[in-house]
Amino acid sequence: EKRNPGEAEFLQAVKEVLTSLEPVVAARPDLVKAGVIDRIVEPERFIQFRVSWVDDNGNVQVNRGFRAQFNSAIGPYKGGLRLHPSVCASVIKFLGFEQIFKNSLTGLPMGGGKGGSDFDPKGKSDGEIMRFCQSFMTELCKHIGADTDVPAGDIGVGGREIGFMFGQYKRLRNEFTGVLTGKGLTYGGSLARTEATGYGLCYFTSEMLKCMKNESFKGKTVVISGSGNVAIYATQKATELGGKVVALSDSNGYIYDKNGINLDVVKQIKEVERARISEYAKRVPGSEYHEGCRGIWSIKCDIALPCATQNELNGDEAQMLVKNGVIAVAEGANMPSTPEAVEVFQKNGVMFGPAKAANAGGVATSGLEMSQNSIRYSWTFEEVDKKLNDIMVNIFHSSYDASKKFGSEGDLVMGANIAGFLKVADAMLAQGIAY
Ligand code: NDP
Repeated sequence: EKRNPGEAEFLQAVKEVLTSLEPVVAARPDLVKAGVIDRIVEPERFIQFRVSWVDDNGNVQVNRGFRAQFNSAIGPYKGGLRLHPSVCASVIKFLGFEQIFKNSLTGLPMGGGKGGSDFDPKGKSDGEIMRFCQSFMTELCKHIGADTDVPAGDIGVGGREIGFMFGQYKRLRNEFTGVLTGKGLTYGGSLARTEATGYGLCYFTSEMLKCMKNESFKGKTVVISGSGNVAIYATQKATELGGKVVALSDSNGYIYDKNGINLDVVKQIKEVERARISEYAKRVPGSEYHEGCRGIWSIKCDIALPCATQNELNGDEAQMLVKNGVIAVAEGANMPSTPEAVEVFQKNGVMFGPAKAANAGGVATSGLEMSQNSIRYSWTFEEVDKKLNDIMVNIFHSSYDASKKFGSEGDLVMGANIAGFLKVADAMLAQGIAY
């Protein structure tokens, strides 16, 4: 805490991981002796920079850009870029730290990183977004590369922003390389990347339901928070797997549709019009809109998939879900459940899939995009989707097996942290202590 004053999110993430690692620390004194724990909580490199750009009125705007290159023990740094006013060093460090273990769990050769800016994309014109992205990349390009650090999208960064950044990187470097993932299909993107995090979340949840309680999505009522990239494709897959998704939200409020969300309407509102989720209730008869996003957790459901943002589900809200009979919670967003909420779920026997395992499908498919870029070839949607499914099933089993091996069978928070950590720790050990 002394070294990272005021960095609440980062300290929260580190505390959760280190608590889970206690049994490993006891079993592996060699890792402690080599300083692996002390080293892994310190980013290898943390870059902060000025991003200035000109708005549509000709005024100069100044934002702050970040990139945390946290750990490269098992591969190039890899992790998304977030554009949101809440972005600060603590948020980027928490996300970068989590990314190390998540990437390791996918089984693909990717280190951990994360970046972004406190730029608020809401209400900005395409031209403003483009000028911001170009300015952001003008500095970021000095620190990244296809074999060094490969950023991707996150909150506020989708296909449009990746396109502008990729274009600027290419212009500056005169190189067409796989330096970013989440690219458009016409210039090196992977099929199924857009769907990957939401789909992967449902593949993970399916395997968790099947293996831990012989259950499935069939006939289950599902609540999903958020209405962005992750939430939309989680809704699609959960519905395909037989669940009924009855609610979605944005930071202003939530919609409830007892007949099951009509995804075409949501896609039109969010992906085409970039409008608010409240529009849904105006267009779909029988559905309701409620102000205040947190009320979504009062809806009775069997499966809850928080897919919006960090700390969006607290202890009291978790109690409410338990009281209403929730059997499984899996995190599509990063760290959406507070530590108190996780405790409530675990104490009440709710199956709980933590973010770094449950939402790893996005980065896994980014890893598959990197592979396709390297061999200059594209796999079909079905090929990528099949690999994604296999990866998510493997992540569940490696997390579950680690929880069993270290004495807390079914505690997937502990299992995912341990399984992700051990691979990175062994690689760090093998590579000496200079880093
Ligand atoms: P988007 O920007 O596409 O969507 C975020 C959504 O969450 C928006 O609908 C936003 O609404 C909503 N939201 C923000 N804050 C709140 C809140 N307090 N309560 C309710 N809704 C809120 O982002 P993504 O879908 O890509 O990302 C969502 C989460 O998933 C993030 O935590 C991200 O880090 C994580 N993630 C994303 C991956 C990906 O591949 N995209 C991969 C792995 C993790 P509003 O418009 O009001 O802001």
